[in-house]
Amino acid sequence: MIAWTLAYEGFDPGQQGLREALCTLGNGYFATRGALPEARADGVNYPGTYVAGLYNRLTSTVAGRQVENEDMVNVPNWLPLDFRVEDGAWVRLGDVDVIDHHQDLDLRAGLLSRRLRWRDAAGRVTRLEQRRFVHMDKPHLAGLDSTFVAENWSGTLQVRSGLDGGVTNSGVQRYRSLNGQHLQLLGAEPSSDEVVELEVQTNQSHVRVAEAARTRVVRAGSPAPIHRGVVREGGYIGHELTLELEQDQPVTVEKIVALYTSRDRAISECRHQARTAVQRAGGFDELLIGHTRAWDRMWSRYRIAIHDNDRAELVLHLHIFHLLQTVSPNTIDLDVGVPARGLHGEAYRGHIFWDELFIFPFLNFESPTLTRSLLAYRHRRLDEARYLAREAGGEGACYPWQSGSDGREETQQVHLNPRSGRWLPDNSHLQRHVNIAIAYNIWQHYQVTGSIEFLRFQGAEMLIEIARFFSSLATFNPALDRYEIRGVMGPDEYHDSYLGSDRPGLDNNAYTNVMTAWLLLRALEALELLPPHYRQEIVDELGLADFELERWRDVSAKMRVVFHADGVISQFEGYEQLEELDWEAYRRKYGNIQRLDRILEAEGDTTNRYKVSKQADVLMLLYLLSADELRELLDGLGYELAPDAIPATISYYLARTSHGSTLSGVVHAWVLSRSDRERAWEFFLQALESDVFDVQGGTTAEGVHLGAMAGTVDIVQRCFTGMEARGDVLRFNPTLPTELPDVRFSVHYRGHRVDVTITQEHFWIATRPGPAPPIKLGLRDKVVDLEPGGVVEIDLEPVL
Ligand code: BGC
Repeated sequence: MIAWTLAYEGFDPGQQGLREALCTLGNGYFATRGALPEARADGVNYPGTYVAGLYNRLTSTVAGRQVENEDMVNVPNWLPLDFRVEDGAWVRLGDVDVIDHHQDLDLRAGLLSRRLRWRDAAGRVTRLEQRRFVHMDKPHLAGLDSTFVAENWSGTLQVRSGLDGGVTNSGVQRYRSLNGQHLQLLGAEPSSDEVVELEVQTNQSHVRVAEAARTRVVRAGSPAPIHRGVVREGGYIGHELTLELEQDQPVTVEKIVALYTSRDRAISECRHQARTAVQRAGGFDELLIGHTRAWDRMWSRYRIAIHDNDRAELVLHLHIFHLLQTVSPNTIDLDVGVPARGLHGEAYRGHIFWDELFIFPFLNFESPTLTRSLLAYRHRRLDEARYLAREAGGEGACYPWQSGSDGREETQQVHLNPRSGRWLPDNSHLQRHVNIAIAYNIWQHYQVTGSIEFLRFQGAEMLIEIARFFSSLATFNPALDRYEIRGVMGPDEYHDSYLGSDRPGLDNNAYTNVMTAWLLLRALEALELLPPHYRQEIVDELGLADFELERWRDVSAKMRVVFHADGVISQFEGYEQLEELDWEAYRRKYGNIQRLDRILEAEGDTTNRYKVSKQADVLMLLYLLSADELRELLDGLGYELAPDAIPATISYYLARTSHGSTLSGVVHAWVLSRSDRERAWEFFLQALESDVFDVQGGTTAEGVHLGAMAGTVDIVQRCFTGMEARGDVLRFNPTLPTELPDVRFSVHYRGHRVDVTITQEHFWIATRPGPAPPIKLGLRDKVVDLEPGGVVEIDLEPVL
């Protein structure tokens, strides 16, 4: 079980936020942080429950101006379970004498268990064993069961089991001066002897959320006689139970909860539905069986097995686990994207960024129906993106840097530097490259599924509209006979304008420009791929004119890329003229300098002055494209890369990157995987451990970093194996690091389930029997046909 259990000993107030985030349980419909059931938000503990796609807008006054923010809403806390011995104080960790506290997250079963033994002032020792799930197969249900044992006493135990509607969004310290009151209480009452119910409504989006909690008490397998009362305090409603404990006789309090919103399908009304669902639900153990089976089915699809590296395997399981708790089969019918920080906390307000670029490639290979549904979130917001493109002075569609409910631009206009306490203007909406991520994901989805239907009815429309936008962003510079893109930001958020300039953004960001050429070529290719009748339909629907295609061809042949004097690809025009930073001096002074932007701003300086990057920017090109593809693209643009230009570009930026985003480790591991395997492994480990060890010092408590989580899994699955779906061939070119001697997984590819085993010496691939036509399989330079039920086995020559 080593590779399946995340275990914690003791109780450490400083670590509690991190544990809560990492022990979150969810099912792709809703998720609940791993907070202690007896805890409330108090600076140490932060119970939070989030429903996928449930947002609300509020206005706050910040630095003298009114700002509006949309947040993923913290809905009523369903966990509360308070207890006390006789008429002592309600037990709170930190206030009692804890003899033993242990928590286990079982990743295989999706079960969080806890054991607590404490001693009260009268010397009474009590044991509590709790288990909890958020049901994977019945997405509206959750369960918490608590077994109490009086170890050296007999007497009365009081338990309160309730629902807390008095919660706010206050999980992120730097947002606390903003308005976080999203909920209005509509009602809280007992619905029967066993059930209490609570209903709230978000105060702007007017979504109603109903929860019902059923609490039963069982002793020796039968209902135990108890005295029940009802407690109401503010937004809290609960049952208060008085239990008689006899020494060493376990008593179990079983709480089953249902959560519905007014947005759910196949319901009449959410409160009625929640009440009915808990009344009809089975007991904890019965529900647990269905829940565990659902996880078994998921693991049989998503699992990556690694021999002889338990630590890597455990953390990869953890990453897959959190990804699947954020998006799962339960998400397919919802209208949601993937929030950068999961459903695990309130950082970045549950917004959706370009991080999907690090998530969808893995998901495509496991469950393309899921990625298709997640891409539909973008497709439904195409009109909003068209509006944004017009507002930005362009054509086509421009998806916003941050997206929430309706797809409008959700990027904050000002952000707080916690170091200086200053609110600063935020130009990050100029990260137009989020659209490249969407286009790339559309293209990858098509490559893996080969679905012309997807291309016709969803993919091509978005691809073409995004292509139109980038084509309209490009301006022709006759002096250079080149197209240029001015006034944007690349992924490196440390540069958002030229020093001293009042014009936001930068010119000719290499990543944006090269990927624009790639994008326009893919849009043209998509049109070619469609059968003529479909192509004509799209051309008619979008009013696509021949001159537009002509322009795409022209732009994709003449996009400008700036190089430094020594042939290194320049991050943007003017980067070479920036000052060098004295990295050593800053390391000496500050230790951790990942967030140089905050450090320099607090010193009255700015990262815009220096050759420093928060994260990979130019190197993103090598994350998305192979070295050969990059050369080919640049060749098409009329730039010939010197033989050592790629390694020189890698080392140049490696020396100037602070890795202030967890995504950076993923990209660097990928980019170095074939040239510097030792360094690549270091970056991989850094990305792998970034949430488990909270390397950014506090950010994981505010929500996990799903991009880095999925990115690490993707490194194992696609990068180390060289797996790539390109041009109707599923290709492999393995270079496993020595630390990963043996990797096994299975993927979906064009209607097949393909089982893959790769070791240092051997490659084994098999397709399961089925009706899909044979696929083409590429191994290094060879391409073979593989029938359903076929096997290919090859001894690998070591790559030198
Ligand atoms: C990173 C962005 C990322 C965002 C959300 C930022 O810190 O710089 O690249 O999209 O976090 O994860």
